[in-house]
Amino acid sequence: MEKKICLRCLLRDCGRGDTFKSISERIKKLSDRDKASDAEYKKRVSLCSECEYLSEGTCLKCGCYPEFRAAFKKQKCPDKKW
Ligand code: SF4
Repeated sequence: MEKKICLRCLLRDCGRGDTFKSISERIKKLSDRDKASDAEYKKRVSLCSECEYLSEGTCLKCGCYPEFRAAFKKQKCPDKKW
């Protein structure tokens, strides 16, 4: 059976588990000074998951992986959603 890809999903949900695992390992290495809190990270990722610019785990507004960008305390959404 052919694997279906959800175009409007986060990396963790769209069949790109290897990339999600890679960014998760990089997020774990961030210092607390640079890392967004868990609550802030979840809020940001939730907003991305409902965003019209999300496609196959990538933000079409800036080309980033939102699940990675959202982990940085000082990063902002390019569409001002968070
Ligand atoms: S970073 Fe902003 S523009 Fe990009 S997918 Fe997330 S909410 Fe949408």
